[in-house]
Amino acid sequence: MKSSFGIGKVKNIEVRIHISLLLILPLFVAVFILNPPPIGFSDIGSQVLKIVFSLIATLALFVSILVHELAHSLTGMRYGVRVKNITLFLFGGVSLLEEIPRKSGQEIHVAVVGPLTSLGIGALSLILYLAFPFPVSALFRSIGYINVILAIFNLIPAFPLDGGRILRGLFSRQMNYVSATKKAAGIGKLLAILMGLFGIFYNFWLILIAFFIYMGASEEENQVFIEGLLKRFRVEDIMTTDVITVGPEMSIKDLLDVILHRKHLGYPVVDNGRLVGIVTLDDVRTVPREKFDEVKVRDVMKRELITVTPDDPAYTAFKRMGENRIGRVLVLDGDELRGIVSRTDLIRAISVLELEEEMYGR
Ligand SMILES: [Zn+2]
Repeated sequence: MKSSFGIGKVKNIEVRIHISLLLILPLFVAVFILNPPPIGFSDIGSQVLKIVFSLIATLALFVSILVHELAHSLTGMRYGVRVKNITLFLFGGVSLLEEIPRKSGQEIHVAVVGPLTSLGIGALSLILYLAFPFPVSALFRSIGYINVILAIFNLIPAFPLDGGRILRGLFSRQMNYVSATKKAAGIGKLLAILMGLFGIFYNFWLILIAFFIYMGASEEENQVFIEGLLKRFRVEDIMTTDVITVGPEMSIKDLLDVILHRKHLGYPVVDNGRLVGIVTLDDVRTVPREKFDEVKVRDVMKRELITVTPDDPAYTAFKRMGENRIGRVLVLDGDELRGIVSRTDLIRAISVLELEEEMYGR
């Protein structure tokens, strides 16, 4: 099942909604109905107006998050970053920037425009709150406070929040990117632990947020660490060269035989010396057992090929696999199939480097 779906495009950026958001939507409406000012509308007498305002405020919350994310994306695009999409989910939004700018000033700029935009919307709403009479003012009051909270929350100096990126941007003025990430992630984790401890005594929600921040910090740290290691290798250094290929006319039964005996899970499909696709064990899963003789490799193979060149950094292979959620990429030199890089190859390379670093120090 798909976990998110597209709702439209803004400046060529696809906007997607994660299903977790739809599940939480009624809860948000309830929060607005039941809570006292400045966030909620329990001070409004009319039940109908209360519900209508709560629906509008919930919608405004998600539009606010979207505008916040758009600020990141559009600033990133100015620095040449490609933006794949913006996904709105339970905890807010995530802009899928293909690569966060590495230059300290650029990273800080891309990170800081989000909270600044939220602060701007917040300030504007609070001015409207003062300008309008009750009960319309209550709606602007709520939207204003939501945006101020959004800005402050995102400025917490911990990954994956904007504050964490700003912090890394500041650190990377004095040290390299990997060390800066490590330092910023360390501070984020410490903050998460303190927040969690505080949450045990005072507020359950804090524990949840602390958990989310701790995971985010670890993930960012791992990602950058792996990237640092894999950038030292080229694809050619880690690829498997004696590639076993299969033909498009091979039956699924024979393919399973190959998988069993050659012990790889995926194979390039070559037709008369020409690469035409790739087939993996996953592609076979939908074929019923009684059709194993009848169905051919060409019926189930993937024709869209995700490739790298031998000269690419090994990190590129890692990135392509992650982006496309696949376990292997083909190595092409022009038209010629030179090898294949699988997750196993990457893990092996990382393990060797880690071992070396342990033995010889960093
Ligand atoms: Zn942000």
